Amino acid sequence: MCGIIGFAKSASKSISCSSILEEGLRRLEYRGYDSAGVAVIQGNRVVVIKDVGVVDKIISTSDFKSLEGNVGIGHVRWATHGRPSKVNAHPQVDCSGRIAVVHNGIIENYLELKRFLADNGHVFASETDTEVVAHLIEHFKSLGLKPFDAFKKAVSMLRGSYAIAVVDLDAPSKVFFARNVSPLVIGIGDGINFVASDIVAFIKYTNRVIVLNDGELGYISDSEVYIERDGVPVDVLSRVRVVEMSAQSIEKGGYKHFMAKEIAEQPYSLAQTLASLQSQDIAKALNTIANAKRIYIVGAGSSYHAALLGATAFKVFLGIDAEAVISSEFKAVSRAVRYGDAVIGVSQSGETIDTLLALREAKERGATTIAIVNNPFSTIARESDHVVAMKAGPEIAVAATKTFTTQVLTLLYIVARLTELVEPVEAELRISSESLKLSHEIAQKVIDELNDDCRRVAEFLLSKHSAYYLGRVFGVPIAMEGALKLKEVAYIHAEAYPAGESKHGPIALVEREFPTIFIYLGFLDEALESNVEEMKARGAYVVTVAQDDMIVGSIARYSDTVIRMPRAPLEVRLVTYAIPLQLIAYHTSVLKGLDPDKPRNLAKTVTVV
Ligand code: GLU
Repeated sequence: MCGIIGFAKSASKSISCSSILEEGLRRLEYRGYDSAGVAVIQGNRVVVIKDVGVVDKIISTSDFKSLEGNVGIGHVRWATHGRPSKVNAHPQVDCSGRIAVVHNGIIENYLELKRFLADNGHVFASETDTEVVAHLIEHFKSLGLKPFDAFKKAVSMLRGSYAIAVVDLDAPSKVFFARNVSPLVIGIGDGINFVASDIVAFIKYTNRVIVLNDGELGYISDSEVYIERDGVPVDVLSRVRVVEMSAQSIEKGGYKHFMAKEIAEQPYSLAQTLASLQSQDIAKALNTIANAKRIYIVGAGSSYHAALLGATAFKVFLGIDAEAVISSEFKAVSRAVRYGDAVIGVSQSGETIDTLLALREAKERGATTIAIVNNPFSTIARESDHVVAMKAGPEIAVAATKTFTTQVLTLLYIVARLTELVEPVEAELRISSESLKLSHEIAQKVIDELNDDCRRVAEFLLSKHSAYYLGRVFGVPIAMEGALKLKEVAYIHAEAYPAGESKHGPIALVEREFPTIFIYLGFLDEALESNVEEMKARGAYVVTVAQDDMIVGSIARYSDTVIRMPRAPLEVRLVTYAIPLQLIAYHTSVLKGLDPDKPRNLAKTVTVV
């Protein structure tokens, strides 16, 4: 994971070096926050400031604010090689301290390179894979190569994934960069240019971007962007895109946390996504799916839960078998993938490495790939045969909220549209894209009317160490998403099961006041009533999320707390039932005094395998 930024500006630009780097690091912090650091060319030195901890801490406990210069790089880290420590934080420098490197990814052959460099007299300070890059450049310079040529030569020796930015005192007006697998974008401003892992790092200053491809490298200065691939210069101008993203959309806007803001934004994101789905030409993607021999939907984390819900919808509403696969587990499944199959990759960022690799493998085996992404400029979007773009807006909090519900909406929209192309199994089991239009209204009602009820559930969960989330059929992926949220942001062990399966083992854990959260959708899950009774009989504390008029019988009698969902068509229930679970997790985290935006050990965009 990790996030990198680099900039080069003209001396006449009034904006300060420390404010550019501070803005960049804060925006990238969702990608990693175990340590952070910067390197700036200041006079005749490369000044490095780095430490363990979050960006705030590093800024307030160092001379960060007084940094001056026109060329600099920065990094937020999610360690893969070497524990989080000051010495392992990036930037990593060479022996002379003249070259500083920030890196996102994994240099697979770093041990081999390290041995070679050590044999040539280089002394290593850190345990990272990244440090070899600085010493390699130094090595090639010592053989007489000019700085940029030495950089290129060093990059040519690397195997693995990398987005790299480098400052070198011997090329003091430039930042060198290279990309392979890990994302990297260029920002083109007026008298200032950027390179970063994500557009958000520099969107405050420019929305003119170039998304780099694998194998591209180059440099930025205050007035120039140079890119080459295999030694051939790239026509930079033809690659410039203007992105629609406002600086405001990545601010907290009065909310205490991004997670709260993003939960509250769901009505808007759902409306935007639906409008965008209706205006996109997805005919080719639909045709591919309709004619596919087999359909696979791959995703990781929340995207996998959306994939599971989508695959269930294919079966139930279309009578078409579709298999949801965890991206990192695709290796085995891919053995069965053939020409004529369709593989749908679901990824918020469009950069999730496991999903990217699964799609590449699927393509190699002859399948047609379709991307469902929130970022249409992402690698997954660019490499897929067809793209279905959501419009959830930037999601900064690590725990996915609005991108999960918009993914579900997108998959259900695809299923609804396919019912126009494919004869559905049973006419009454249809969902319609028309009904999905109500999603944003219902989401708004849930957020406005059920927030306090969800906070009360959070007060109960506060002292608990474990919880079950149970549902049937469509309720299962929603339960999985609810349990994941609670784990991620409140650090409470939570497990989701198909409710009927809970009798086959999990119920052994249930004792007095054991929290059990049922998701009752009122569709193919009637038997949930007996599961509620069974849990209650063992003393569980039962919370049921169900539609107002469905809270009857055992559900009404045995639930200790009910979250009364507004009445809505089935397809809208499928989109919105995760929202109260997000609110429960959020409030539990805040009541526990945690920061829901930065769960420990996690990072948002997982770009390492
Ligand atoms: N491998 C580098 C490190 O551990 C970068 C990690 C990453 O990109 O996640 O320092």
